[in-house]
Amino acid sequence: MKHFDVAVCGGGIAGVAAALAAARRGKKVILIEKQCVLGGLATAGLIYIYLPISDDRGVKIAGSLTEELLLRCQEYGPFAVSEKWGGISGADCGGAGERYFCCFSPAGYELTLEKMIRESGVELYLDTVVTGVRCDGKNRIAGAEIFCGAEKESISADCFIDATGGACLLRMAGAKVFPETNYITPWFMEINRNTKSAYYLTGDLYIKTIPAPAEDGSMKEVLSAAETQEFLRRQYREIRRYFDAMSAEERKGAYPVNLPVMPQLRKIARIDGISEITSGEAGKFRADSVGIAADWRQAATAWETPYGALVPKDVRGALAAGRCINTSLDAWEVFRVIPAAAMTGEAAGVAASMCSERMVEPEDLPVSDLQHELRKNGVIIHIDDVK
Ligand SMILES: Cc1cc2nc3c(=O)[nH]c(=O)nc-3n(C[C@H](O)[C@H](O)[C@H](O)COP(=O)(O)OP(=O)(O)OC[C@H]3O[C@@H](n4cnc5c(N)ncnc54)[C@H](O)[C@@H]3O)c2cc1C
Repeated sequence: MKHFDVAVCGGGIAGVAAALAAARRGKKVILIEKQCVLGGLATAGLIYIYLPISDDRGVKIAGSLTEELLLRCQEYGPFAVSEKWGGISGADCGGAGERYFCCFSPAGYELTLEKMIRESGVELYLDTVVTGVRCDGKNRIAGAEIFCGAEKESISADCFIDATGGACLLRMAGAKVFPETNYITPWFMEINRNTKSAYYLTGDLYIKTIPAPAEDGSMKEVLSAAETQEFLRRQYREIRRYFDAMSAEERKGAYPVNLPVMPQLRKIARIDGISEITSGEAGKFRADSVGIAADWRQAATAWETPYGALVPKDVRGALAAGRCINTSLDAWEVFRVIPAAAMTGEAAGVAASMCSERMVEPEDLPVSDLQHELRKNGVIIHIDDVK
């Protein structure tokens, strides 16, 4: 059985950031991703806007890997950050104005992310599903079962990171989670010579978003196999309905070129963490903050991220990263996006490395030591640090 210092489950933006952060500390890291591409929803889900990492005063509020991953998303794509942030003006996508953000080609970003992971020395398992966990008597995750092709393997690690977007690893270990409702708004890539859409790529190429249909746009929680199948079927139905409504002539100038290969669920499940971030906590000082998330909807507000929101209450030997950390209500809206996934991923990657170095549990890691290491990386810890 292969043993790792840090095992990262899920290769979305949070998992990539976690794996890079741990590998850059010299750790032996495995990154396991069930798709054959990295990036998760951001790429396989055709989400192509790396939302802002600045506030409305023109102040950058996230650095280190969150900024590096933003800058690298330009590498194989037609977009660039604005002049103000040291680049050239990119296409007007997402309405984020002069804030520090960037759009990207999903396929281009997949190429970059794989290159970054390869260069970091992380052992990458693509097209591999984590199918089970092994816990010891103290409800500590000691190992996981993975499945690729027709082969099963067992791995073990000093510390696991659940970056699966829906807390899959921790759920398999019996952790309590809180699900959330979703609504159906398919995003897909189309050629359209008839009408312009809001989300423009190049030429006649668009990311088309279909607003949730009034009669059946919303879904209850999407946790079970049956709920997932129902959600995916409805997505297909809505996309077909959009093209079916066109005349034969219109169909010559408008057709799909790429569909998402992941369920476009905004929120699946969040962990029951030692701390919670919830509505009304914008601008609030959190002594154990490990980074700041910009509010992508309102430029003025920023949110501190308590380390305890990454630490499950009921399972040991593991941390959460990305959109399954413990954020509720309005805070989940703020933290479920790409830059926050990168920021929490880096925090989890550094924390897991330190747990491996010191042979301590995530809940026993002194937060001031973690903050010190994150600051050395260039992470901005508190809102006051940039005032
Ligand atoms: C319609 C829609 C529009 C959005 N628009 C934007 C936007 O414009 N800008 C923005 O910043 N954000 C947007 N988001 C949100 C954003 O894309 C995601 O929330 C963010 O990318 C989440 O990153 P993550 O790494 O936490 O999770 P994910 O991207 O979900 O990554 C989790 C990864 O884990 C893998 N995985 C899961 N289970 C297993 C398993 N058992 N074994 C192995 N691998 C596993 C998955 O395949 C996936 O790759 C949007 C989301 C939706 C649904």
